[in-house]
Amino acid sequence: MRPPDNHVHTGWSWDTPASVTMARACERAVAQGLPAIAFTEHLDFTVWGPDDRATTLGLVDRHASRHEPIDSEGYWAELTEVRERFPELRIWSGVEAGEPHLFASSVAAHLRDAPVDRILGSLHSLSDGDRLYGVGQLLYTDPDATMRRYLGEIVDMVESSDVFQVLAHVDFPRRYWPGGSHRFVEKDYEEEYRAVFRALAGTGRALEVNTSSPLASADQVRWFREEGGEAVSFGSDAHQPGAVGQRFDLAVDVVEAAGFRPGRDRFDFWRR
Ligand SMILES: [Zn+2]
Ligand SMILES: [Zn+2]
Repeated sequence: MRPPDNHVHTGWSWDTPASVTMARACERAVAQGLPAIAFTEHLDFTVWGPDDRATTLGLVDRHASRHEPIDSEGYWAELTEVRERFPELRIWSGVEAGEPHLFASSVAAHLRDAPVDRILGSLHSLSDGDRLYGVGQLLYTDPDATMRRYLGEIVDMVESSDVFQVLAHVDFPRRYWPGGSHRFVEKDYEEEYRAVFRALAGTGRALEVNTSSPLASADQVRWFREEGGEAVSFGSDAHQPGAVGQRFDLAVDVVEAAGFRPGRDRFDFWRR
């Protein structure tokens, strides 16, 4: 049984070309036999308010930022269109909130105006001085220390933000690992992973297995289960239609090997 793809981007995300439409993503999802798809566009802030923790922490800027806000009107118009055109597919609205613990007030304001079905929480950036930098840029100076700091910051994010339902790509920096992602060794960070998984499991939220990232091992997903994790979400993190549902067969094998099974129905997260 194929799980829903809970993490898909289209041209409404600042890092995705306008040619990547919801309709093309839906066609791909149907062709793959997916029961559901969530359009989780990037919700990243380049300006923030006095009530956001980013301000309290003295952060003033993002480094070399290309981030753009979501055009909510356009997003909702296209979503309505594909819901009519693809009745066989369940189509969820969503956002991927970047550093939601630093921007709680701004995230809440966005969601008040445009509430969505799926909210992913992601850590893409860490601070250095008074700026946020993409973790890929920080990794080269000291990958090991940056990775430990990253996973520590995720614990903080999980503990201090309850806005998201799914923790996306828990080890995002491995995508940019110096010398290639194959050189990243999960086991070296088992303790840090387990701290994240304990915190996440304590809130009952889902861990994402991200299939754009180098795939999690069954060991890693099992650590989540051992720490009390109850739910797993599958996300292709597609930024082009062809990537919707990518490597889900493999991901399903990994998640099953770690002791999770399909949930209540085919739209649900997988559960222990
Ligand atoms: Zn992401
Ligand atoms: Zn994403």
